[in-house]
This record gives sequence, C-alpha cells and structure tokens, in this order.
Amino acid sequence: MASCPSCGKEISPQAISCPNCGHSLQAQTVPPPPKSTGATSPKNLAYYSIICGVVAILTFPIPLGVIGSALGILAIRRGQVTLGSIGLLLSVLFGFVSVLLVVLFS
Ligand SMILES: [Zn+2]
Repeated sequence: MASCPSCGKEISPQAISCPNCGHSLQAQTVPPPPKSTGATSPKNLAYYSIICGVVAILTFPIPLGVIGSALGILAIRRGQVTLGSIGLLLSVLFGFVSVLLVVLFS
C-alpha cells in the first residue's frame, strides 16, 4: 500500500488520485532544475582567469598574464562567458609558457 503524499491516507498504488483528498498521484514529470555547479558561470570563469593571469605574472615577469587577467576583469564587467573562457584559456596558456620559460632559463 502506498500513502498519499498530501494527506497520508493509505491508497492503492495504482490510484491516479487520492480518494480521500483528491491529491493527484500521477507521476510528476517536472524535471529538476539544472544544477548549477557554478563552474561555467561567467563570474567564476573570470575569477579563474584573473587568478591564472596573476599566477602567470608572478611566475615570470613577462606581462603575458596581464592579458588573461584583463580579459577576466572585462568578463566580470560584461558578464560574458566567452570572454571569461578566452581569458582563462590565455591565462592558463601564458602561465604554462611562463613556467616553461622559468624551467628552461633557470
Ligand atoms: Zn490524500
């Protein structure tokens, strides 16, 4: 026996609606709202971009990371995902290049 989610009265599992209170028992096919992990939000991307850019700047004194950080700041101001993604990509790339240069020339 199933119980009505509305009034709690025991009802037939095949029942379409509760005979006691009339609560509809048909499968609710409302999809859950898409879970926002926050990873793809423009702001988060932009922050990652800025952080990576700063790391790139700190790792090697070549203003490569500045571009990534600038794009990140721009992305925050405009709330653009694309810009944040580009900034993040550039920052990661520049950070990687910076580390590579440090390794090669030290
Ligand atoms: Zn009921």
